[in-house]
Formats: sequence, C-alpha cells, structure tokens
Amino acid sequence: MNGLTRREREITDMNKILEILDKAKVLHLGLVDGDEPYVVPMNYGYTWENDKLTLYLHGARRGRKLDVIRANNKVFFEMECDIVPFEGEVACKYGITYASIMGRGKAEISEDPEEKMKALSVLMKTQTGKDFEFNEKLVSVVAVIKIEVSDFTTKHRPGPTK
Ligand SMILES: Cc1cc2nc3c(=O)[nH]c(=O)nc-3n(C[C@H](O)[C@H](O)[C@H](O)COP(=O)(O)OP(=O)(O)OC[C@H]3O[C@@H](n4cnc5c(N)ncnc54)[C@H](O)[C@@H]3O)c2cc1C
Repeated sequence: MNGLTRREREITDMNKILEILDKAKVLHLGLVDGDEPYVVPMNYGYTWENDKLTLYLHGARRGRKLDVIRANNKVFFEMECDIVPFEGEVACKYGITYASIMGRGKAEISEDPEEKMKALSVLMKTQTGKDFEFNEKLVSVVAVIKIEVSDFTTKHRPGPTK
C-alpha cells in the first residue's frame, strides 16, 4: 500500500490505533462489484492478536455485498473517529479533526457456528464494551463476514494550535 503523503500525521502508537478501533463503531467497506466500486457502511468488531488485525461484520444472509464477496473477496475498509469541526479566521483555516484507519484484506463468509459465535461476541464487545454470549440458533439467522487484514495505515489531524 502507498505510504502517507503527510507522514507527520501518521499514527504509530499501537495504543492509539486500538483506541480508533474501539471508538469508530462504523466501518466503510469497499468492494469491487465487477468493474465498479461498491461501499457499504457497517458496524464491526475487531481482534488484535499476534500483531494481526481481524475484523468481523454481521448482517442479513442475503444481499449485494455477500454476492460481491463471493465473486471477489478483496476488500478495502476505512473507519474514523474524533470528528470535530473547527473554525479559522479565513476559509482555508477551517477544518475538521479526525483519527482514521484504512487498509485492505481478504473477506470470508463464515459458515462455522463456533467462529460465528466468537465473531458476534467480539462485535458486541467492540460496539458496546459488554460481554455477550451466543448460541448456534442465534447465529444461524445471520451472515458473518471475517476480514483478515493484510496491511493498514493510520492518520490523525489534531485541532489548530492556539
Ligand atoms: C451507520 C450504519 C451502520 C450499519 N451497520 C450495519 C451492520 O452492522 N450490518 C449490516 O448488515 N448492515 C448495516 N448497515 C446497513 C448497510 O449499510 C447495508 O444497507 C446493508 O448491509 C445491506 O447491504 P447489501 O449490500 O446487502 O445491500 P442490498 O440490500 O442488497 O442493497 C441493494 C442496493 O441498495 C442500496 N443500499 C444498500 N445499503 C444502503 C445504504 N446503507 N444506504 C443507501 N443505499 C443502500 C445500494 O444501492 C445497493 O446496491 C448499516 C448502515 C449504516 C448507515
């Protein structure tokens, strides 16, 4: 993946990166549907284990994104947090603060009930901070998408210094 054009805005502290993953709550999933792009906003859960980021999504068992992933499982994603607009004395000094992460990986539609139960617990933990348990019956009615992230970049824009 290309490096950032403004390296000073890159985030390298892993604690800060995990903070973005905890706070963002919504992921924009980029897919390639034939010869056109398709982007779907979704809630997500994540694990960071052995220096590997894995994302979990869930939703209905049918629909365009699942059809697209079955045909092409290469995905790109983006999430952001800490969005606060700020003002300036002139138009070009206005802006918005943010912290964001984007990256790519391979998506897989999970069929294994054990993995789906884990995925939904992870998703609920990321979304609510609480522990939930699932059984086979509950997970049978939803589709779970697992994304193994191969690489990602992070960036932040702080507010203006006074
Ligand atoms: C903040 C947020 C969080 C969400 N979280 C989840 C989640 O965790 N799980 C989940 O399954 N869904 C979530 N959704 C809904 C999601 O964006 C999709 O609408 C849904 O997943 C269906 O996607 P699909 O590709 O199967 O679309 P289909 O239902 O097959 O869509 C067919 C067509 O409808 C249109 N369409 C689909 N979704 C949207 C949309 N969101 N807005 C406008 N037009 C649309 C597109 O043109 C698409 O081609 C969320 C939406 C938002 C805004």
